[in-house]
Amino acid sequence: MSTGFDVIIGGGGIVGAACADACARAGMRVALVERDVMGSGATAAGMGHIVVMDDSEAQFALTRRSQVLWRDLAARLPPTAEYEMRGTLWIALDQEEMGEAQRKEAHYAERGVPARTLSARQLAELEPNLRPELAGALLVPEDAVAYPPAVALHLAREAEKRGATLIVGHSLVKMSCGEVLLEDGMRLTAPRLVNALGAWSPQMDMEIPVKKRKGHLVITDRYPGYVLHQLVELGYLKSAHSVGSDSVAFNVQPRKTGQILIGSSRQYGNESAAVDQYMLAAMLQRAELYMPGIASLAAVRVWTGFRAATPDKLPLIGPWPGDETLWLATGHEGLGITTALATAELIAAAFIGATPAIAPEPYLPSRYAQKKLDPQKETTCNGKA
Ligand SMILES: Cc1cc2nc3c(=O)[nH]c(=O)nc-3n(C[C@H](O)[C@H](O)[C@H](O)COP(=O)(O)OP(=O)(O)OC[C@H]3O[C@@H](n4cnc5c(N)ncnc54)[C@H](O)[C@@H]3O)c2cc1C
Repeated sequence: MSTGFDVIIGGGGIVGAACADACARAGMRVALVERDVMGSGATAAGMGHIVVMDDSEAQFALTRRSQVLWRDLAARLPPTAEYEMRGTLWIALDQEEMGEAQRKEAHYAERGVPARTLSARQLAELEPNLRPELAGALLVPEDAVAYPPAVALHLAREAEKRGATLIVGHSLVKMSCGEVLLEDGMRLTAPRLVNALGAWSPQMDMEIPVKKRKGHLVITDRYPGYVLHQLVELGYLKSAHSVGSDSVAFNVQPRKTGQILIGSSRQYGNESAAVDQYMLAAMLQRAELYMPGIASLAAVRVWTGFRAATPDKLPLIGPWPGDETLWLATGHEGLGITTALATAELIAAAFIGATPAIAPEPYLPSRYAQKKLDPQKETTCNGKA
């Protein structure tokens, strides 16, 4: 049995690594447990678009706060993190979508986020490989891109420099009541545990309301300058919101290497990591609709990954009722690269009793824990913790 930790974090994706870094910076003795290598889960599969989103005020607050933290972090990141403030172009296919671009522009302006709508001609000047007949776009210049697994590794190493213990290559089998059990029989204890296992977080407690949402991505050979901004269709929001059916959206990212990432797809109820040819074909057809020449580029790899989706599209950040030692930092769906830093800030602030930069309430897991709040089962630890 190993003791002496203030907090044990399960999952070395970008969220767990960011929590480890933030807690270690706040002076806590941290252990971070990862079964594979750091950043190998959804973090390795993700696109690395750091984007302000406004589906809800809560989503806006978390994404915007994170973006500010990303800007601070950027100066300290190694070149492997490939952070670049490329800006997002939200592409309008028709006048109806142009109306949505204008609504977003006004919404962001009210909240201090620079954004401006572009005419069809201005859009064509910025991105000449897009189809010429598009209606226009919204440019959000402060959005950025990064290479997420390199950032996760960097954050874990920063935590280690501040005394954190990285336990890599060990699977957790239990996390509750101040105790963590590893597959090889090792037991660790701490007064606080953080489940940052992403799509696998329900493996520690089936009641955690997270479902796997599969996504595909394609990466091309090097075509420097072919795409200059993160390009996303405004219809992406419909794809991200659909709950019943499989969906695809045009979402393309320029990498520092000159490669182009092509996404994106969303599927529930498919837990196989295999590439689904019909989803890949639908995704590439969607990309061709916006960027006809994309079909002539050479793809070098296709992969899939699993987003951790919650029913209300907001993550679960905070204590998990029923176990006074257990905290959740999971359920970030398609925004976990963006929101990892503000998530970690909320967790560390709560642990040291500091006032967080944004209100924590919208993300509290207690919104899903009605059964757990039953006074009969107020704690499952029976004073053990
Ligand atoms: C195709 C795709 C595109 C995306 N694009 C973007 C994007 O552009 N921008 C954005 O913000 N987000 C994006 N996302 C979402 C983003 O990738 C995730 O929200 C984010 O990576 C979640 O990080 P995490 O640390 O919570 O989870 P993960 O990275 O999945 O980390 C969980 C870790 O837990 C480990 N683990 C699991 N079980 C155990 C166990 N029993 N014991 C020990 N360790 C365990 C895993 O190995 C893994 O490393 C995308 C996701 C996908 C799939």
